[in-house]
Amino acid sequence: MTPIQDILIVGGGTAGWLTAAFLARQLGTAQGGVRITLVESSDIGIIGVGEGTFPSIRGTLSAIGIGEAEFLQACSATYKQGIRFDHWVRPPGTPGADHYFHPFSQPSQRPGAPELLPYWLGGEAGPTRAFAEAVTLQKAVADARHGPKRVGDGDYLGPLNYAYHFDAGRFATLLATHGQALGVRRVIATVDRVDLDEQGAIAAVHTREAGTLTAGLYIDCSGFRARLIGEALGSPFSSMRDVLFVDRALAMQVPYARPDAPIASYTIASAQESGWIWDIGLQERRGIGHVYSSRHCDDSDAERALRRYIGPAADDLSPRRLTLDIGYRETQWVKNCVAVGLAGGFLEPLESSGIGLIETAAYLIGQLFPFNGDTAPVARHFNAFMKERYARIVDFIKLHYGLTQRTDTAFWRDNADPASFTESLKEKLAMWRCRPPQRLDFITDVEMYLPASWQYVLYGMEFKTEPGAWMAPLNRGEEARREFATIAQLGAHALRDLPPHRTLIEQILARS
Ligand code: FAD
Repeated sequence: MTPIQDILIVGGGTAGWLTAAFLARQLGTAQGGVRITLVESSDIGIIGVGEGTFPSIRGTLSAIGIGEAEFLQACSATYKQGIRFDHWVRPPGTPGADHYFHPFSQPSQRPGAPELLPYWLGGEAGPTRAFAEAVTLQKAVADARHGPKRVGDGDYLGPLNYAYHFDAGRFATLLATHGQALGVRRVIATVDRVDLDEQGAIAAVHTREAGTLTAGLYIDCSGFRARLIGEALGSPFSSMRDVLFVDRALAMQVPYARPDAPIASYTIASAQESGWIWDIGLQERRGIGHVYSSRHCDDSDAERALRRYIGPAADDLSPRRLTLDIGYRETQWVKNCVAVGLAGGFLEPLESSGIGLIETAAYLIGQLFPFNGDTAPVARHFNAFMKERYARIVDFIKLHYGLTQRTDTAFWRDNADPASFTESLKEKLAMWRCRPPQRLDFITDVEMYLPASWQYVLYGMEFKTEPGAWMAPLNRGEEARREFATIAQLGAHALRDLPPHRTLIEQILARS
């Protein structure tokens, strides 16, 4: 067995450069540790979408050594405090709530105080107060377009949990700068042939412009092309199209009407007849896109829906068109090659799992790194972990669609048909009809979305947990009512304490 002394990463999008920079830090590339080379094609662009993130990104940026102000400046980034889901339960114009919120902050749980979910289900927060609004003050703050922190809170810290929106192209450039400063060698060349050895491992990668490249470990970050893991090694792709239907996207970059326009501090996910529209506020523009199912809607109807949503600001813009492969490879690490990013899989933009999965994979590779060259046990563990993580995300995303009460189009009727649910999701929902979900329903290391996220979406989608025997021990109603009242008061206080979102960004940039 030969110890691994060098890594070759193929691909220079978010996956390639995030993995390169993160591993350079973890493996000590600049201090004579494992050498890292990244090869990227100048002929094949990066996908250039993927502007919404999950709070884990703060830990990743900090681990790479990127300061928060530098990141905000370089990537036109803004603060994301969650996602507002418009018209997912019922279509526009129907009586009942027209939106719900998935905040990033956990439900309030003061030491010694009761867990609030069962009391909320028992009506103690009042008959009409939505779950996310009853248990955190984050929606009150984000609705008022205030930020999650104050300027003096320090890098990546703040009283409310948060992630970011950013410009994907500029993010890859920032990561490339940091990766190279950390010792990653960059090669601009297109891989056009891959040789395998007798055991079926990668022996060499041939490029058009830079000759032959070899390494102890290859990381495939070549996007949907999956040049190594798919084309060369043939690791099968499991499509999830029968569960998650969207497979096309149209994306536009829409300037603000005024340079000082307020910036939303959450993603707006607006349900459409055959998919949904994302609306993401950056510093100088909004990123807006329609993701839809080609089985339920044609491209021109999808474009009309996007233009209707944006209004006259879209008149002079033409959308980028993308085709999505929805699914993942169950075996993401084959012999001496591991896939990260779109090459490993993609489960649609909802809930920003794409970059989160890149962070997970880079972290696992760094933590489990097979220094001695024995990749087989690490590969087995990595594959089991990632397969389970993808499967849990599939269920979490399906929850958003499957619980709809919409029957206005075939897309929503098909989504609510239990035949399109996975068995594991059906099982969970059956349990949660009889009692509320709780932490121990989840194996938390494997889940990307914590139990609270499931609760926010379940009850945002108006899922019904039947009253029953589980309510018998609930004898702390008075305390719970006080807690709900305190959260409402703290919301008003937070609005005085936390600056408007655009002001917060300007203040942080001015101080840097
Ligand atoms: P790419 O960006 O496609 O990069 C591929 C790289 O490989 C490029 O550098 C290319 O030059 C190189 N390459 C390819 N072939 C070769 C070759 N033969 N030789 C040399 N180099 C090669 N994720 C989120 O987290 N949040 C979101 O909001 C989100 N929204 C999305 C919306 C849409 C419509 C789509 C499609 C994806 C979205 N994603 C989102 C996913 C996210 O965009 C990706 O996970 C992320 O950008 C990583 O892409 P990548 O680096 O794997 O691939």
